[in-house]
Amino acid sequence: MSETQGLKVVDAFDLEDEIRKALKPGELVFDEQGRRHRLPRYFYEIPDHDVAMNTRLTPHFGLNEFIFVDFKEDAHLQAFPKYVPCAVRVLAFFLEQFRAAAGASVHVQVNGGYRSPTHKMSFNASPHMWGTAADIYRIGSTILKTRDAIEKFNDIAEDLSEDVHVLPYGHITGKAADDHVHIDLGYITLVPREIGEDRMEQPQENRPRFAFEDRRKRERRAAEPVTSD
Ligand SMILES: [Zn+2]
Repeated sequence: MSETQGLKVVDAFDLEDEIRKALKPGELVFDEQGRRHRLPRYFYEIPDHDVAMNTRLTPHFGLNEFIFVDFKEDAHLQAFPKYVPCAVRVLAFFLEQFRAAAGASVHVQVNGGYRSPTHKMSFNASPHMWGTAADIYRIGSTILKTRDAIEKFNDIAEDLSEDVHVLPYGHITGKAADDHVHIDLGYITLVPREIGEDRMEQPQENRPRFAFEDRRKRERRAAEPVTSD
C-alpha cells in the first residue's frame, strides 16, 4: 500500500481562484517544436510540512523532495497546502530504479522537482510542470559538475527505459544541463482511480469540497466587519 493513498486528490478546477490560476489545469502550452500539451488537472493536496516530510513515494524518495521550491515559485504556491501533480508517483518509481542502477543515493535539488506553469524557471512545456521531471545535482558523493559525470549518469538513466529522457550536457540555460542531470518522462498526466472524468472542465463555483476551503471561507466570514442597520 502506497503512503500517498492517505493524501487527498483534488481536481484543480475546484481550487480557489489564486491557486487555480497558478496551476492552470487543462491549459495548453507549446513545447519547443510548437506542439501543444495539456497541463495536469489532478493533484495531491499536501496539507502541511509534516505530511510533506513523512510521506514516502518509494522507499528512498519522499514527497518533500519534489515540492521543495523557493521564491521563484508563484507566491500562492509557496505556502501549505501545496499541490503536486499525481504523476509525481511515477517519477519517483523511475528515480528509484535509477538510484538502484547508479548504485548511490540521488538528490533532487530545490526547484528541481515540480515547478508550476507560473514558476520563474518554467519555460515552454517543461515536463517539470507535469511533475514528471527531476533535476539532480548530486549522486552519492559525486557533485554533478563535469561533462564526464553528467554523461555517465545520463547514460545510466537512458538505459532504464525508452520513456526516460535526459538533457545533454551543455551551457545553454534551459535547453541543456551543465551542472545537473535532468531526467524526465514526458507529458504523463495521471488520472487517479478515485476520480470520475465526467465532470465539466470548469470551476465548480460555490461548491467547496475540501475541508481547508470550508475553513478558509469560515475564517473570511469571521474576519468580515459586523454591520448592523
Ligand atoms: Zn530539469
